[in-house]
Amino acid sequence: MRPTWLEIDLGALGRNYRRLARRAAGARVIAVVKANAYGHGAAAVARALLGCGAERLAVATSGEGAGLRRAGIDAPVLLLGSLHPDDAEDAARWGLTPTLATLEAARAYAAARPGGGVQVKVDSGMGRVGVPPGELAGFVAAVEELGLEVEAVYTHFAVADEDEVETRRQLAVFLETARALPRRYPLHAANSAAILAGLGTELDFVRPGVALYGLPPDMRTAQGLEPVLAWKARPTQVKRLPAGHGVGYGLSYRSQGEEWIATLPFGYADGFPRALSNRGWVRWRGGYAPVAGRVSMDQTTVRLPEPVGLDEVFWVATPDLDERTSLTGRARALNTIHYELATALSPRLPRVYR
Ligand code: PLP
Repeated sequence: MRPTWLEIDLGALGRNYRRLARRAAGARVIAVVKANAYGHGAAAVARALLGCGAERLAVATSGEGAGLRRAGIDAPVLLLGSLHPDDAEDAARWGLTPTLATLEAARAYAAARPGGGVQVKVDSGMGRVGVPPGELAGFVAAVEELGLEVEAVYTHFAVADEDEVETRRQLAVFLETARALPRRYPLHAANSAAILAGLGTELDFVRPGVALYGLPPDMRTAQGLEPVLAWKARPTQVKRLPAGHGVGYGLSYRSQGEEWIATLPFGYADGFPRALSNRGWVRWRGGYAPVAGRVSMDQTTVRLPEPVGLDEVFWVATPDLDERTSLTGRARALNTIHYELATALSPRLPRVYR
């Protein structure tokens, strides 16, 4: 096995699932497993979540849906995002439920899968995907005239993690728009942050993503969630460098005195950001080892106070909120979000499930 790997704790995943499901008691769960289950491995995570009671899965692309089908998963899979007509045949072929927000896509899907089930998305304020509220009734009628079955109507919140007033306003717009339809459709709106805030949890479904993986939507406190993923590595080489020796591309680091440098077998192609060159850390023996030199595509060098063997284990990402080494802490340091760091974890990293 490659000497760098992800350890995924399916027990923690299940406990997060149950915590979220309890907060939305009465709602059915559409577990969001897009982007390779936020880097955690789509097939294994999807199977585990279905085993926990999730009724449906959601992905972003028909390719992701096809991957679940090829892995033998036959649960309903919702394609998030507005279907493009070019994608209608693939969605139909793999038995995925598309999200419709344009008539062009509705027509293409009706041709590819006559009588197929679809969901319709309303834009309640995010300005990204969805039918404007004032056009929903006409759109739903047109979709049904094409012979398609509208299985649910949903919306998505823009600021569920930071602005409760605006989220309540979006929810109100959504409910009012849905109530004006001639019949009652199953409804859903809540992502992880909304579930934790109790907004939209009274509807028919909820759509948790990031919180399932124990990554807190607010990026600050654990919010009762357990991190699921740890990233580990063993060095492929450990060398003593004399004072003033350059390290890595650009020789951007020079040893201050005699130093030990461990070469770890992962790089930016694995999802360890190059922006951590000369400023990132990995966890080592309860402390930290600083990244020395540039992160390259497949290798990262860290500085050690002493030599270690090739069986030494370094924690590249720790399952906690550590400022330096957790996905959440690192994302804050890099001025981004843990979603980006988790979904960047390359498929070429082996994943070990416990
Ligand atoms: N619903 C939709 C439409 C999404 O795009 C996403 C993710 O971006 C989710 C639900 C899950 O969101 P989160 O990961 O914040 O729970």
